Amino acid sequence: MEVEIDDERDIERIRLIREVRQRLESLARAGVSTLPKSPERPPVPRSAVVEPPREAPPVISAPASPPVVEQPKPAAAPPPPPRPAPPPKQRPVEAPGSLFGAVEFKAPFIEPADRSAALAVIAQEVAACVRCPVLVQNRTQTVFADGSPTARLMFIGEAPGADEDRRGVPFVGKAGQLLTDMITKGMGLRREDVYIANILKCRPPENRDPTPEESSNCFGYLERQIEIVRPEYLCLLGRISATTLLNTALSMSRLRGRWHRVFGVPTIATYHPAYLLRNPAAKKDSWEDLQMLMRAMGLVVPKKKG
Ligand code: SF4
Repeated sequence: MEVEIDDERDIERIRLIREVRQRLESLARAGVSTLPKSPERPPVPRSAVVEPPREAPPVISAPASPPVVEQPKPAAAPPPPPRPAPPPKQRPVEAPGSLFGAVEFKAPFIEPADRSAALAVIAQEVAACVRCPVLVQNRTQTVFADGSPTARLMFIGEAPGADEDRRGVPFVGKAGQLLTDMITKGMGLRREDVYIANILKCRPPENRDPTPEESSNCFGYLERQIEIVRPEYLCLLGRISATTLLNTALSMSRLRGRWHRVFGVPTIATYHPAYLLRNPAAKKDSWEDLQMLMRAMGLVVPKKKG
């Protein structure tokens, strides 16, 4: 019967058996009938027996080799090239225009000394504006803007409320007081250092949202205000302001906390102060937005207490 042998140890064992048999036959032919006993070895404690691992590879005697000449060790493999750095996360702008490129105003630059007069011209146009009949019937007066015509930072809200309609100044009610606190206590600026305006210059009845037509009617005035003041940064207050100026339907939670641009001007969006009064828990997010803005403007961000 032919046995299939595929184990190298079996081959070696068979070879040894064949050699022993050939040796014994050779001795027998030479007249040797007995073999001397080998000296007895002391028994090996069982625990000392180290059995070779079953899967140990067969030992192959190496042929006599020439004197080993120590070869210089090969140079260590060069370290793998450094991984390319991950793309940077969207960072706050370091300086106006450095991230977003040049501003994109169409109107000519107006010298700072001439800006008040240029804005006054627009304010007169606004005061006489009757493009939105419903708002014209409802308003006490138009509400144009407040603050410095040379401000680095411009806040843009949605529309005047009852207090603003009565006084003719944006952000003077409870929400306005909170915005003032954000500017002064939070950012360390004076309210008169910034410029504050709304998309609509007339109060919508019952403080309803502006209609798209009303926003469209009034947007040209705001555009001209931005072009004259040429702020380095814009802060859009509330959903209406953000979605209108950024031309998006995204929610405020998706728009806040990152940079946008409007006319090339680095812009952030954050919650409207009126929303913060109704949802104080959102003040933390809004403060983070302002800190992002402050870092970009080079303002000192107060260290966290505790
Ligand atoms: S909201 Fe603007 S466009 Fe409409 S009437 Fe008032 S100023 Fe004119």
